[in-house]
Amino acid sequence: MLNIIAIKTGMLEENCYIVHKNSKAIIIDPGSEAEKIVNEIEKNKLEVVKILVTHYHFDHIGALNDIKNKYNVAVIDYKSTGNVKFNDFEFKIIKNYGHTVDSVSYYFEKEKIMFSGDFIFRETIGNYDIENEEVMIESLKSFMKLPADIKIYPGHGETTTTDYEFKNNPYLRGI
Ligand SMILES: [Zn+2]
Repeated sequence: MLNIIAIKTGMLEENCYIVHKNSKAIIIDPGSEAEKIVNEIEKNKLEVVKILVTHYHFDHIGALNDIKNKYNVAVIDYKSTGNVKFNDFEFKIIKNYGHTVDSVSYYFEKEKIMFSGDFIFRETIGNYDIENEEVMIESLKSFMKLPADIKIYPGHGETTTTDYEFKNNPYLRGI
């Protein structure tokens, strides 16, 4: 089982997530307030093994350099593809461009959880420029093909599920 700690950072209340198992931890989107993130790591006696970035908007990476320098670990982002496996972690990188041209989700298939960044939120989606509309629609189409039982941890706001979004997200209607 994966343990997940959500930390709201910055004025935009970006959700930074610490995902940990057997004392090893991944930090997803260190948005800002590095000391808040470090405190959680220390409180739970975790060893940080990797940082994941869902996309490079300032509210998601404000503390990236501080965290990277502190733990001296590699960063995974849109430049990686496919299946990634290290320590007790295994996940798929799903490209869902639209909100930005570097937006990805991290899908832990076995645990049925996904970190969606600003691609999809409860009952809405991330904003996008009109020239990226087609790309966003492609991303939403592939989202619709996911299993219905995935729990989603978005970059802002509360958690949701694929099933709930399939039924209630207005942007998925007619896709
Ligand atoms: Zn964003």
